[in-house]
Amino acid sequence: MEKNKTKKASVCPVAKKCGGCEFQGMPYAEQLRHKEKRVRILLDSFGKVHPIIGMKDPYHYRNKVHAVFDRDRRGNAISGVYQKGTHKVVPVDSCMIEDQKADEIIVTIRGLLKSFKIKTYDEDTQYGLLRHVLIRRGFSTGEIMVVLVTASPIFPSKNNFVKALRKVHPEITTVVQNINDRGTSMVLGTRDVVLYGKGFIEDKLCGCTFRISAQSFYQVNPVQTEILYQKAIEAAGLTGKETVLDAYCGIGTIGLIAASKAKQVTGVELNKEAVRDAIKNAKRNQTKNITFYCEDAGEFMLKMAAEDQQLDVVFMDPPRSGSSEVFLDCLAKLAPKKVVYVSCNPETLARDLRILKKKGYQMQEAWPVDMFPFCDHIETVVLLSKGEVDSKKIRVEFSLEDMDMSEFQDGATYTQIKDYVLEHSGLKVSNLYISQIKRKCGIGVGKNYNLPKSEDSRQPQCPPEKEKAIREAFKYFGMI
Ligand code: SAH
Repeated sequence: MEKNKTKKASVCPVAKKCGGCEFQGMPYAEQLRHKEKRVRILLDSFGKVHPIIGMKDPYHYRNKVHAVFDRDRRGNAISGVYQKGTHKVVPVDSCMIEDQKADEIIVTIRGLLKSFKIKTYDEDTQYGLLRHVLIRRGFSTGEIMVVLVTASPIFPSKNNFVKALRKVHPEITTVVQNINDRGTSMVLGTRDVVLYGKGFIEDKLCGCTFRISAQSFYQVNPVQTEILYQKAIEAAGLTGKETVLDAYCGIGTIGLIAASKAKQVTGVELNKEAVRDAIKNAKRNQTKNITFYCEDAGEFMLKMAAEDQQLDVVFMDPPRSGSSEVFLDCLAKLAPKKVVYVSCNPETLARDLRILKKKGYQMQEAWPVDMFPFCDHIETVVLLSKGEVDSKKIRVEFSLEDMDMSEFQDGATYTQIKDYVLEHSGLKVSNLYISQIKRKCGIGVGKNYNLPKSEDSRQPQCPPEKEKAIREAFKYFGMI
């Protein structure tokens, strides 16, 4: 760290065009000061903020590397990153924050394309095959996954291509073809075909082994992730007797690490692939006291609160947008002794802390952790606990009548109905439309979606094709 204090950070030659590293050229110690200050400004008034935990070596920390493939004016294959705010590709062969082995593999792939007559994809003409390459490397296992994102499922001589690639890089343990034929800016499509190996890699963190597939979320900086998780688990002060919730659990990392120190753990996560990995991770680690649910965390909390489930500790690790009002509301009603909030956005964290404070939860301590050197992102672990007086007050105030009970009486949740409708008819329907059709079918609806707020307020009416699709979902779930 001392060394970093004086060292002027080198400047990447494509820094301006790429725009990925906001703190290019700023010495690392200064970056840390800057980030800590931002957290202090936002959180000091809530409780104790500890000094930021930085990295000893802040370079090449990213174990997930993405390269977009294109061609230059002469038709030669290029690979790199999108120029900030555009779809123009800036050629990049090595990046100071990316895993070096991953960068080498990307250059090798580019070099192999010509002899295999593989054309890179052109977004304007929609001609060509290879769109992106994604590489993930298990930090402690060394396993490497290469994901070749192609515009079509037809990939001529793919086996020989993989053979040639593995000849140069025998360290690659699995190769997956992901088919993305959509004209959107999403990198990955929904279909994966395993071309070599098991189709996923494993990594070890805090004594647990995790399975990571092409699609699932996994923190990109393993060194700091281990520190982050350790802080979170330590803060919870588990003794083996607690009932724990891991909300926004991804592939189950925090919950699985906590499970050996708790009585029972429940994980909830919206992404289906991640939940699938989480369940496999529980088996892989022979963890029996954990259950995962694929659901919106807020809706899940509503059910837990309605059933007055016991919860001692809640870990919550929401996306950048923070948590939801309904989640925080039910959290306070369930009244766990401790809440450990892991945040990747201090602004939404401060907003949620303000809400929780009104509900009787006080931030005790906060630990900012630098997961993204050179980039303008800050991760923070926060411990909150409940004041005694408020706890009584909230327990008395809580009544089932306050809640939208329709979710529990009618078979399927709004999210399940929406998912079903989208999957079977391609239509997006709102909560309002679902509640309108529920009413038409004589199914009880909670007061939230029941009546217009005032007599003369006009609500959009559910169009017939959506009504038909919603009715089909009701039938499927046995509601009518
Ligand atoms: N705790 C995990 C994942 C954190 S990232 C880890 O450390 O790896 C945030 C996660 O929240 C993502 O996996 C995302 O899919 C999930 N998520 C986003 N919105 C959600 C919602 N409304 N309900 C439940 N999970 C959600």
